[in-house]
Amino acid sequence: TTRIERHHYDVVVIGAGGAGLRAAIEARLAGKRTAIISKSLFGKAHTVMAEGGAAAAMGNVNSRDNWQVHFRDTMRGGKFLNNFRMAELHAKESPQRIWELETYGALFDRTKDGKISQRNFGGHEYPRLAHVGDRTGLELIRTLQQKIVSLQQEDKKAHGDYEARIKVFAETTITELLLDGDRVAGAFGYYRESGEFVLFEAPAVVLATGGVGRSYLVTSNSWEYTGDGHALALRAGATLINMEFLQFHPTGMVWPVSVKGILVTESVRGDGGVLKNSEGKRFMFNYVPDVFRKQYAETEEEADRWYTDPDNNRRPPELLPRDEVARAINAEVKAGRGTPAGGVYLDIASRLPAEEVRRRLPSMYHQFKELADVDITAEPMEVGPTCHYVMGGVEVDPDSGAAAGHVQGLFAAGEVSGGMHGSNRLGGNSLSDLLVFGRRAGGHASAYAEGLAARPKVAAADVEAAVDRALAPLEREGGENPYTLQQDLQAVMGDLVGIIRRKGELEESLVKLADLRDRVTRVAASGGRRYNPGWHLALDLRNMLVVSECTARAALEREESRGGHTREDFPTMAPQWRTVNLVCSLDGDKVRLEHKPLPRMRGELIQLFDRAELAKYLTEEELADFDALTA
Ligand code: FAD
Repeated sequence: TTRIERHHYDVVVIGAGGAGLRAAIEARLAGKRTAIISKSLFGKAHTVMAEGGAAAAMGNVNSRDNWQVHFRDTMRGGKFLNNFRMAELHAKESPQRIWELETYGALFDRTKDGKISQRNFGGHEYPRLAHVGDRTGLELIRTLQQKIVSLQQEDKKAHGDYEARIKVFAETTITELLLDGDRVAGAFGYYRESGEFVLFEAPAVVLATGGVGRSYLVTSNSWEYTGDGHALALRAGATLINMEFLQFHPTGMVWPVSVKGILVTESVRGDGGVLKNSEGKRFMFNYVPDVFRKQYAETEEEADRWYTDPDNNRRPPELLPRDEVARAINAEVKAGRGTPAGGVYLDIASRLPAEEVRRRLPSMYHQFKELADVDITAEPMEVGPTCHYVMGGVEVDPDSGAAAGHVQGLFAAGEVSGGMHGSNRLGGNSLSDLLVFGRRAGGHASAYAEGLAARPKVAAADVEAAVDRALAPLEREGGENPYTLQQDLQAVMGDLVGIIRRKGELEESLVKLADLRDRVTRVAASGGRRYNPGWHLALDLRNMLVVSECTARAALEREESRGGHTREDFPTMAPQWRTVNLVCSLDGDKVRLEHKPLPRMRGELIQLFDRAELAKYLTEEELADFDALTA
């Protein structure tokens, strides 16, 4: 029989990015024995790569900012498809979460009068992103880890053991959630280094596994992001929403090929950088959609004045939400006005003195110098869209993070959850999302564990099945190569379910995905269990495929263009689609897609908007309700 290490916890948090760490801290503060599990090294998560900052309406730089303005911006950015309650909680609680981070030891950049500085970002009406140069995520992770260490020191004093109540399992991948009926009973996985199996028995699991970007070739995401949490949730009976909405960040590196997709932070534009085509023209002025026309400058002069006098001028169109900018770049390149490497130019060199660029954007300066031998203080960068963030994710109760569907004891927070960002996330809204909803999920998971009369039990047969499934690729001979399968999947997703989508291609993608799913059942990895990346990928592929299928099915179903979902054959937003979430679930092995009405915004929230603006998004029926409310 196979050796399996066993652990017992009250709360198991899968993922050690911002959402997972904040959830774990909350669970530990609630007195729960807590495990943090991380596929990568501890400290290496997407959160650490976040550059621009964390959005929170503290009003430090412009005192007109407040949660209502932030809420409005978030709903606009998501094109009103957001779960309004999540957007509300996020806007209200983000400032507290940032200040709390300071009490954990975070050191943000300051304003002249010593407050936490805030920078401009796309879609945010006022300077709102708390930041540390362009290395904000690093500070966030550093501080949360430091808080965990300080809690462990308290536990050492109280219990004689640092890890008595909170323990980190790094380089450990979870492959299965185990259930007792419809209740979570534990999580099963393997240590990446030794290949040994490990079982965590726990009544409550918080998913904080981040995104899905590795299903695309050109992506800002790193190797871990294979949609594991999304797939684990589906297989446990939970549901996913909004999976058609993927954020293609407008500015990834396009050259050299080996680093294609690596992110160029939006802060470059927030701090004055402009986009130009091969003719040297600032083309974004041609791409301001009607819904945003009132808030964006019409001339370069006005746009440039905005940086120093934002109260009397409108914002530059380079700072439109990301979906708009990505589509514009795509259109310029398609029209033959792209750069040699197939992107556009992003110019900060002619806009700020060299020393200022190096001070404000140190990581970008080094990234271009080292990877592309480009000095961004002297020449423009070449950039183009890159798959960056998944708006879709586990359907959750907005207040608690409890997964919807028929499973209990499962919670989700951060990028793996859906709803908060609607059809498009604003930059900076993720880091704050992690803190707000990580804390909530950790607290509610603890309360759930506390309230159980009896602990769910892990069935021995389920553990055996998990072992068999994990070992299968190693035991097959002459099967499919995992790397070939991943490349084929990336080709399908990039070519047929990419930034601009069409009915025929989406239908074709489903045929190809079905074929890939079949091939994945025959995937084989050579070598043994000790640190074997081919085996790891073979196991990840199952997740990537089911999640990609949700994306493709939902993209085919949604016959409109909104946020991170653009249909060439349905190029406009359709109000009747605004009222619908597409919900993905698993029926045995089959992916099912259902329409579910979006919750209606509460009266006092919808009244934060002008009727004229609402008329661009809402159905006649919704508008009539609004009129009745305001009559
Ligand atoms: P992550 O930080 O992605 O962490 C996921 C964790 O789950 C990792 O520890 C991973 O190892 C673990 N995991 C995954 N699968 C498994 C498994 N099967 N078993 C065990 N563990 C698993 N957002 C902003 O708001 N502002 C920014 O400036 C910004 N800049 C960004 C820059 C880059 C380059 C990137 C890629 C993203 C950026 N984002 C930014 C987005 C933001 O960083 C992410 O959305 C966010 O960090 C996600 O946090 P998370 O806690 O949900 O997950």
